[in-house]
Amino acid sequence: MSNLYIPVCAFFCSLLLIIVFFSKKNVKTKETKIFSVLLITSFIDTIIMVLIIYIGYVDADNIKLLVLLNRIDFIQYLVWAWMFYLYIYYITLNIKEKSLKGYNIVVRTTFIINLIILILILVLPVDIYNVNNVMYSYGLATNCLYVTCGLYLFLIIVTVLVNIKNIKNKKYVPVFALIFLAVILLIVRQFNPGLLLISAVLTYINLIMYFTIENPDLKLIKELNFARNQALEANNAKTDFLSSMSHEIRTPLNAIMGFSQALSEEDIPKSAKEEISDIVSASESLLEIVNGILDISKIEANKLEIINTEYDFNKILKELVSLTKARLGDKPLEVKVSFDPTIPPILYGDHLRLKQIILNLLTNSVKYTKEGYIKFEVSSIIKDDVCRLIISVEDSGIGIKKEKIDKLFTKFERLDADNTTIEGTGLGLAITKKLVELMRGNIVVQSVYGKGSKFTVAIDQKIVNKPYIEEKETTFEEFNAEGKKVLIVDDNVLNLKVAARLLQNYNVAITQVTSGFDCLVLINNHEYFDLILCDDMMPKMNGAETLKQLKKIEGFSIPVVMLTANAISGMREKYLNDGFDDYLSKPIQKIELNKIIKKFLKNNKL
Ligand code: ADP
Repeated sequence: MSNLYIPVCAFFCSLLLIIVFFSKKNVKTKETKIFSVLLITSFIDTIIMVLIIYIGYVDADNIKLLVLLNRIDFIQYLVWAWMFYLYIYYITLNIKEKSLKGYNIVVRTTFIINLIILILILVLPVDIYNVNNVMYSYGLATNCLYVTCGLYLFLIIVTVLVNIKNIKNKKYVPVFALIFLAVILLIVRQFNPGLLLISAVLTYINLIMYFTIENPDLKLIKELNFARNQALEANNAKTDFLSSMSHEIRTPLNAIMGFSQALSEEDIPKSAKEEISDIVSASESLLEIVNGILDISKIEANKLEIINTEYDFNKILKELVSLTKARLGDKPLEVKVSFDPTIPPILYGDHLRLKQIILNLLTNSVKYTKEGYIKFEVSSIIKDDVCRLIISVEDSGIGIKKEKIDKLFTKFERLDADNTTIEGTGLGLAITKKLVELMRGNIVVQSVYGKGSKFTVAIDQKIVNKPYIEEKETTFEEFNAEGKKVLIVDDNVLNLKVAARLLQNYNVAITQVTSGFDCLVLINNHEYFDLILCDDMMPKMNGAETLKQLKKIEGFSIPVVMLTANAISGMREKYLNDGFDDYLSKPIQKIELNKIIKKFLKNNKL
């Protein structure tokens, strides 16, 4: 009965494999479906093999039953070899252009061949050799089966060799294992046909496949990784699209803002002046929206960085109050302000983002309150060198329905949007919440519908124990920079016109070129300028490359300021890192341009 050991072991192994495989959640791919058939056929084979050997011992004369069992077993081998071939054929198809048409033709052709072989196996004679505990089958049906399996083995080797480029790492393992084991099997059968190894070998190959390519866990992880990568790619594409869209919008916006700002200073009728000021404020709103979209996409792509610096908190509070008052228009709203005098004057954190958070809340309270008050309070809790700022913005506005509070921080979600004529995109609070989280803070909202709302933010900022040297000048002051020469480099003629128009007020001599190459030609020809304003996204040679080439010119020391529509946060740092002396974003804000002119061309007051 020692012949039974190997098939019995194979039986338990197969059983275990089937239980493990089918009890797990499987990814329904073609390969997995084929693998399930492989598992089932080899499991049936182990059962039949055990039966054959057992009956061979206990009822050796029952030849008819032994022949029948052998024929059924042959069918299992045939199906197994066929399925294995289809499996190999499928995994060697080029993943990208998986031509299922070719695969289907192979399935149909091999199916017909198998049918013929099946009939031959069932009708051709099978003989049983069963002497002295050595038992095996022989005869025409057996030979027919072995020839067919040998053919499949040959096809498998050819398929693998032809498509070797398409199959990757682990997928080779079962193929090589099969080839190796098949050769061993043939040799062993020559010397000892009674050693019934086939069922064990099939089980062994199934095992290898399970642990290399067909493990449901591995497959699931692979599928999840694939889905994750696709989602990441889509998200990156969205971010790229949004930043390029924002760049595209900024260019015409630059022209609208620049020219309307310049026009508003001309001697024109009062009504025209009012209209122009409306154009300016409309384009400012548009710019805010573009910035909001850009912010949210950056946050989602984890590309928004918190940039910490030392700053004067009181100055920010003052700016916020005056910005809020400016936004009131003619609304009868009282702005109540209460700031804790113990807040340390100098803090360390991302003041721009902090300001953006508070400004969003203040703007909303102005937007959603018709009459009454807005209360802006800031208190602090100091522990060691950390100051917890507790900022609250309360209003007596329309309030928020209880059931809608959950949706408040969802992007593009506007509560009661149908009933309100108030402008907005539904991005403000989503950005605010993300920013607060990025700064490791908290935001909570309390609201009574029809009565008002209160938003409270708690954010920790480090305390800086040193006196802050305040920037002396904050007022807008134009300069006469007569005699100074400015070179503007931009591939977009409209942008050149806008920059030149805004620079006119400073009486500078302006030269305009439309590429980095032209800029290099001028500098190489020893033309002198006091300042270069250079765009970044230009065809063939971008701003950063132009600067790199400029710096290679001996004795080059002209300040170069990046003038770009690429206004994603973090860009300033990037351009300063690239070696630019400063950064100016498009649409050009007059006040920002003024700072640059003052910094690099200050001469005497107008
Ligand atoms: P937006 O104001 O651009 O619509 P937000 O994300 O800033 O977008 O706000 C989302 C929604 O939350 C608003 O549409 C509004 O319905 C509601 N909301 C925000 N702040 C207030 C507030 N202070 N009072 C009442 N409703 C508010």
